[in-house]
Amino acid sequence: MPTPLIAGNWKMNGSRDLVEAFGRAFEEAALPAGVEVALMVPFPFLEAAGRAFAGTPVALGAQTLSDRPAGAFTGEVSGEMLRDCGASQVLVGHSERRTLFGEDDAAVLARVRAALGVGLTPVLCLGETLEERDAGRTEAVVLGQLEAVFDALSPGERARLVIAYEPVWAIGTGRTATPEQAQAVHGALRARLRRYDAALAEGMRLLYGGSMKADNAAELLAQPDIDGGLVGGASLKVDDFLAICQSA
Ligand code: PGA
Repeated sequence: MPTPLIAGNWKMNGSRDLVEAFGRAFEEAALPAGVEVALMVPFPFLEAAGRAFAGTPVALGAQTLSDRPAGAFTGEVSGEMLRDCGASQVLVGHSERRTLFGEDDAAVLARVRAALGVGLTPVLCLGETLEERDAGRTEAVVLGQLEAVFDALSPGERARLVIAYEPVWAIGTGRTATPEQAQAVHGALRARLRRYDAALAEGMRLLYGGSMKADNAAELLAQPDIDGGLVGGASLKVDDFLAICQSA
């Protein structure tokens, strides 16, 4: 069984005060043994979060990174800078990056490579839209997004990723995939990973994301192929996020 991971994605929300509040809460929190927790905060809060989370079990993450090395790329943030601020993980290919900021599979792969190149753990996000689900294309879309990255990586590189399945229709909508719907896709992902390598498939963390909340987390996390959660809205409230971590 992979080690469960609960990752919070603040998106373009939060404040330095919220960072401090999370730091204080997680200093005292009792978490289930063997559960890992991470928070993906906006760039400007990384350094403060690194300080606030020191001495807590919360790992620091970012929400995207540039596919370029250092240089004349105004406004970009490199993986090396994220490492310098203490981040160990980074989201790649979140559906908001794919749909709102035009990141296609090639752009996602380039960012995965950039993250791996500096020793960051890429949390690769995959998911289908409602139209794709209604057209019966869920597995084709999600497995296609997986293959676009995994086919291009070496076996050693593949093992360093975390995967997050996030049906686009469930993100920020309050409409959660049922545990059965989520498990079906997670099972298909695990089966596809087995075709790369059995040990890779067994060790890979498959997170579910999309309106995961304190009151539905336990049921989702109880599914055999759901190894954690990627939590958006509910990661902005200390009590809600703690409750989700505690149900892992
Ligand atoms: P949500 O977001 O929990 O607010 O649906 C999840 C995500 O986009 O990572």
